[in-house]
Amino acid sequence: MRQINLLMAQTTHTPTPITVAHGDGIGPEIMEATLGILKAAGAQLEPQTIDIGEKVYLRGNTSGIDPGAWDSLLSTKVFLKAPITTPQGGGMKSLNVTIRKTLGLYANVRPTVSYFPFVATKHPKMDLVIVRENEEDLYAGIEHQQTQNVAQCLKLISRQGSEKIVRYAFEYAVGNNRKKVTCITKDNIMKLTDGLFHKVFNEIATEYPQIQNDHLIVDIGAARIADTPEIFDVIVTLNLYGDIISDIAAQVAGSVGLAGSSNIGDHCAMFEAIHGSAPMIAGQNIANPSGLLNGAIMMLVHIGQADVATLIHNAWLTTIEEGIHTADIYHEGSSKKKVGTKEFAQAVIERLGKRPKSLTATEYKNDTPAMQREPKAEIEHKHAIKKVVGVDVFFTGENLDPDIVGPIMKELGGDRYTLAMISNRGVKVWPNGFSETHYSDHWRARYMANAKETSIKEILSLMSDATDKGIEVIKMETLCTFDGVNGFSLGQGQ
Ligand code: NAD
Repeated sequence: MRQINLLMAQTTHTPTPITVAHGDGIGPEIMEATLGILKAAGAQLEPQTIDIGEKVYLRGNTSGIDPGAWDSLLSTKVFLKAPITTPQGGGMKSLNVTIRKTLGLYANVRPTVSYFPFVATKHPKMDLVIVRENEEDLYAGIEHQQTQNVAQCLKLISRQGSEKIVRYAFEYAVGNNRKKVTCITKDNIMKLTDGLFHKVFNEIATEYPQIQNDHLIVDIGAARIADTPEIFDVIVTLNLYGDIISDIAAQVAGSVGLAGSSNIGDHCAMFEAIHGSAPMIAGQNIANPSGLLNGAIMMLVHIGQADVATLIHNAWLTTIEEGIHTADIYHEGSSKKKVGTKEFAQAVIERLGKRPKSLTATEYKNDTPAMQREPKAEIEHKHAIKKVVGVDVFFTGENLDPDIVGPIMKELGGDRYTLAMISNRGVKVWPNGFSETHYSDHWRARYMANAKETSIKEILSLMSDATDKGIEVIKMETLCTFDGVNGFSLGQGQ
């Protein structure tokens, strides 16, 4: 105890206000354990507690967070959050997505390490960090049912969003002595959206010659994370792929109960465990508090209390190394003592000041990159010359025959447009479609302007003519070129 007090005395930080949510399920138990360790280690914090999650949802607030809670978040700008339960159905919105987007937390950072031989895993050398874009992609939540039988989810990828996350990943690599950044996309299929992300990655990689870079398509990338995770160092990827591959990584490392994560924005940051509220084991003092504790360690580095983060992390590694394990990681042979949540936290507290003997001890620096450095200027781009050269007119209809609709749509183009094709679910069905193609009620007519350029006014007149002919138009997308390069994909078979 004397040693702990000495260690606490060394910390001379001004208390930092933070917002704390105790969450649902196992949330309150693991938060209590985590805060107990932070306090014993001398972390200088002024916690403000807010209510989020299940009880807020059940009060009828579909966002899971009360308006008043934002005041605390916006004033402290640092959020330590226990997992919450999202009630199924009933129009409840994901609180995580809401918080990330509202506070502009664009980078989700998930380090995954294996603690072999103390925690059982097939991958003893795994030590990777996934940097996931947190605001864009299919998570923009822009979905529409467009026809009786077809719904659409809009995938939005911006150059600015991609530059920000890719730069964050390279800065993270530099500041954390990492050697390589791997970009993961599906740009063999999504050439414009994922292609933009990959292109930005290639541009920014040239600014970091000291860091190796490579690219993998997400299917083989996910397979390799499951099979040979030791080949990865830092991974940067889009929102959906990052969501999926970070769970694969955590699972193959040993336990979802171990990993913490940070969500970083320009002004605010949120720290949490990667796992959920595990309602099945709630209230039994058996949950592993390590994931939240590792999130809290990232928080301490973020707020400039790296010495306390180092003290706690090394005590935690020592506890793991000494085989004092919660049930989720307990294995006969590698473990020595099975403990509950509270006892595990107490074991970590008793080891404050100790350093691990076999696992690599940590030494955090306050000057952690990317979180605290001034963002570099965005790449300057020449403003491209945009021309509208055509339009995709989407329309609906069941049991349509493309050979009957085709000539009608062609005639509608008149002198202004040439009908290049009609497609159904992206596959060309007119002219010269295949009878094997299955037709949904969602059709697209692609018109190319006969002049070098067309206008929205002309397009609206075309759509109005189509409506007059009894075509049930559902939407349009302009076809543009940027500096003469097509900004649209070709139809399959076009
Ligand atoms: P989960 O992560 O809660 O549980 C998955 C499995 O891992 C369960 O077997 C659970 O017992 C175990 N587990 C998780 N954390 C553990 C820990 N600390 N110690 C020991 N074992 C642990 O995932 P789920 O069951 O799919 O989701 C439960 C609820 O959590 C859902 O309502 C979901 O929406 C929510 N959720 C919240 C967050 C968050 O708040 N960040 C994240 C994911 C899921």
